[in-house]
Amino acid sequence: MSPVRLDLTARLCVSLGLFDDPQVSVVTSRPAPDELLETVHEAEYIAAVRRASEDPVCAEERYGLGTDDDPAFRGMHEAGARIVGASTDLALAVWRGRCLHGVNFCGGMHHAMPGYASGFCVYNDAAVAIRALLDEGARRVAYVDTDVHHGDGPQAVFWDDPRVLTVSVHESGRTLFPGTGYPDEVGGRGAEGTAVNVALPAGVADAGWLRAVHAVVPPLLRSFEPDVLITQHGCDTHSLDPLGHLVVSVDAQRQVARTLHELAHEVAGGRWVALGGGGYAIVDVVPRAWAHLVAEVAHRPLEPATPVPAEWRRHVETLTGRSAPARMTDGEPAHWDGWESGFDPADAVDRAILATRNAVFPFLGLDPLFD
Ligand SMILES: [Zn+2]
Ligand SMILES: [Zn+2]
Repeated sequence: MSPVRLDLTARLCVSLGLFDDPQVSVVTSRPAPDELLETVHEAEYIAAVRRASEDPVCAEERYGLGTDDDPAFRGMHEAGARIVGASTDLALAVWRGRCLHGVNFCGGMHHAMPGYASGFCVYNDAAVAIRALLDEGARRVAYVDTDVHHGDGPQAVFWDDPRVLTVSVHESGRTLFPGTGYPDEVGGRGAEGTAVNVALPAGVADAGWLRAVHAVVPPLLRSFEPDVLITQHGCDTHSLDPLGHLVVSVDAQRQVARTLHELAHEVAGGRWVALGGGGYAIVDVVPRAWAHLVAEVAHRPLEPATPVPAEWRRHVETLTGRSAPARMTDGEPAHWDGWESGFDPADAVDRAILATRNAVFPFLGLDPLFD
């Protein structure tokens, strides 16, 4: 979770000229004030983060702080709160029509819970941003999470709220943190069908991952008709990622950003907020994956074969002593067979997709078997 990954991503975007477009604004953000954090987080948890932030020795494990996953560090409150401020400002700018799309690749802290830190996440920027949209009058908000880990925080926060659809496509909790996100987690009473989980077996590659995303996300979004689409683009699905066990390429990640962008225009009047998330291959994957995301958000999608700029590669090599990737592609075609072409109940990916469609599609009036 080293901040270097964000710096390398921003530098790559600069080198590619993505921030030069007159239609693109790069904006900074204030740390979210406590009253905004408190729309999702418990006051005593925020106080505990502040104490650990001032003196890391004071970190309390009962709040998930000072643990291996969430070590305490000086300034952690301000760092986490600033990410929340950014995602919330962005969501409100989109809602108020000041911009149509926005991206905060520092965000997507999807494991943070109302009362404790978890999985490298302190404050849940996605959940606070969604809450702010609802408070401003949005009737329905959809959150789609394609990180390799289950998007457990937003699901928990909006479990009982039928106005928020949370969809997470991830590696199964049987083999990966946080151990949740099964198809039978469908939402609380009165909100059944608004929590959606696709739990993929370890080892799934591009064709299976893309098939799963496309067999579940588009029909759900078309049926739900959100006012705003929030997406989380954790790129730890990649084959080189040291934590997850999926075998996805930056080409497939680029395709998913593209699909979600198209869906935002189709179902949400174009109102789209894209967030980062996990991603621990900080040289080979994260900067390329999120530069593609920024390019997509900016309506300047990059051809996969685009060379990685030499000045960025030199910087990486000086900084890390490692060679940087030469192109914005992994050379994969990012092809998949759509669900409409039929399914095979003996196939592990199709079984995972079917379990999800069977669990939630009937609640939304959709046919679990056929599109
Ligand atoms: Zn992750
Ligand atoms: Zn667009």
